[in-house]
Amino acid sequence: MTHIGDPRKGNPMSPKIYRKHNCSAKHRTWRTLAACMWPQAAWISGEGQYATVSRCSESAVRQVVSVALHDDLAKAKEALDLINATACGGRCVKDHELIKLERDTSS
Ligand SMILES: [Zn+2]
Ligand SMILES: [Zn+2]
Repeated sequence: MTHIGDPRKGNPMSPKIYRKHNCSAKHRTWRTLAACMWPQAAWISGEGQYATVSRCSESAVRQVVSVALHDDLAKAKEALDLINATACGGRCVKDHELIKLERDTSS
């Protein structure tokens, strides 16, 4: 078992960065920002800048998104490895992603 990651999928230590959300508010916590970014999320857990997002469908008609937040990248990576290894439950299609959240803190 390796934790180095698949080079074809890019550097695992450089997650995708999400900045866009669905309102103009400045969210005070990563969790409220995540809730705004993924309004379709069935649940959001934890708190932190790094999100592991599962988009595996529970059925053909309903897409279930679940988001877990982590306060550091290593922990988020570990969590992603875990859901990749064990499946996230339901009808897992291995649609899991590690995303770094960024927010505007200029005010
Ligand atoms: Zn928002
Ligand atoms: Zn899954």
